[in-house]
Amino acid sequence: MDPAGAADPREAALRRAHDHAVRWLASLAERPVPARATVAEVTRALGTELPDGPCPAEEVIDLLATACEPGLTAFPSGRFYGFVIGGSEPAALAADWLVSAWDQNSALRLVSPAHTAVEDIAEAWLLDLLGLPPDSAVGFTTGATMANFTCLAAARDTVLRQVGWNTARDGLSGGPRVRVLAGESRHMTMDLALRYLGLGEPWLVATDRQGRIVPSALLDALTTGSPDEPTIVSLQAGEIHTGAFDPFEEAIEAAHASGAWVHVDGAFGLWAAASPAYARLTAGCGRADSWATDAHKTLNVPYDCGLAVVRDAPALRAAMGRRGEYLMHHEHGDPFDKVPELSRRGRAFTVWAALRSLGRSGVAALVERLCRHASAFARGIAAIEGVRVLNDVVFTQVVADFGDDARTDRVLDGLLADGTVWISGSTWHGRRVMRISVSNWSTTDDDVDRALDAIRRAVAAS
Ligand SMILES: *Cc1c(COP(=O)(O)O)cnc(C)c1O
Repeated sequence: MDPAGAADPREAALRRAHDHAVRWLASLAERPVPARATVAEVTRALGTELPDGPCPAEEVIDLLATACEPGLTAFPSGRFYGFVIGGSEPAALAADWLVSAWDQNSALRLVSPAHTAVEDIAEAWLLDLLGLPPDSAVGFTTGATMANFTCLAAARDTVLRQVGWNTARDGLSGGPRVRVLAGESRHMTMDLALRYLGLGEPWLVATDRQGRIVPSALLDALTTGSPDEPTIVSLQAGEIHTGAFDPFEEAIEAAHASGAWVHVDGAFGLWAAASPAYARLTAGCGRADSWATDAHKTLNVPYDCGLAVVRDAPALRAAMGRRGEYLMHHEHGDPFDKVPELSRRGRAFTVWAALRSLGRSGVAALVERLCRHASAFARGIAAIEGVRVLNDVVFTQVVADFGDDARTDRVLDGLLADGTVWISGSTWHGRRVMRISVSNWSTTDDDVDRALDAIRRAVAAS
């Protein structure tokens, strides 16, 4: 209340936002998954003129919600199967509202004791669930791209330090070359992270049809060139088309035997470790040196939340830490020593809320449910005449085609026009395919049945 007795302007705006959010969530069960309005239509509804003066916050929220609603894609729907897109667990979504209201800058340990406590607890829980060494450091990044970047920064500086080169002081120019080996089926953000780090393109190692690195090819690559060349090997838990996992035991042993740092991009797949039924997929993975994953994919917390995990915590702090005389540093290091940014929102709050809400068995059940739905998709699709499931469905990803490329594209277009589901296409081993990724906590058996009906309709019409 201000002295004149007027209500806090935030309260009315938050109430409107709450109403719009609840209505949006309720619409997910039946609304078409693709957006109904185009960019031009949303732009028109919003108006392009910058207003000359202020407008009450609640009116802004009403305008935003009503103008944007038709142009929203139902990413949080249980029938969104494009890319790899998680939804938001209820506790994580609600916690995210508090994150905005609390508005903590979570950079410094001493300044937000609440966030620090939550980040410490979430860090320990994550390492436990993912089967990673308990002394590892966990940085809460914007996503897996930046988690890969963060881990690889620690890797780069460490392998260069081991040959006597100080990157932080001397940069990369004139220094020894760092060789990065990665599977042909690595995610393209790996190349992006390497580009940010000045490491150039990776040396590609052959992968099998499912996208798994071939151990003998890795061995060949490791033994080519000079033995003391600083080397990083990047493996993958969860290939973007097939969901396949690299053979970690063999690959990590070979890489470590030649002195390489081993990184694992496990953006969505690392979570297999949290399920007793699927942990075999990540067997041996915990022996690597760093791991990147997303909390906003399989764990289903809101964007944006990735996790950079580094076994050698001081190496991560050496790569990402910095000091400012005006800051209040903690002797044991600060949250911002583990990520690229200084200022950042309280990402750990949502991770803690999801884990606290699901519990150990709930995280396992979530992973198992996603996999069970993927298997149901594979069975349902394989039963349709003229349709082939092309991958070994080991996790949450299914790849299928419909005979020839043109027909596959017609089916995919038909699916989007139908609107029951959102499923994207891709080109895989030179042919057009349909990609299904089951990543949303809220997907039900009924959603899968409705999706299969939609696929059957699209096939019949093509
Ligand atoms: C999604 C994904 C990434 C990138 O993650 P973002 O959170 O989008 O930055 C990297 N690797 C793999 C395997 C992925 O699936």
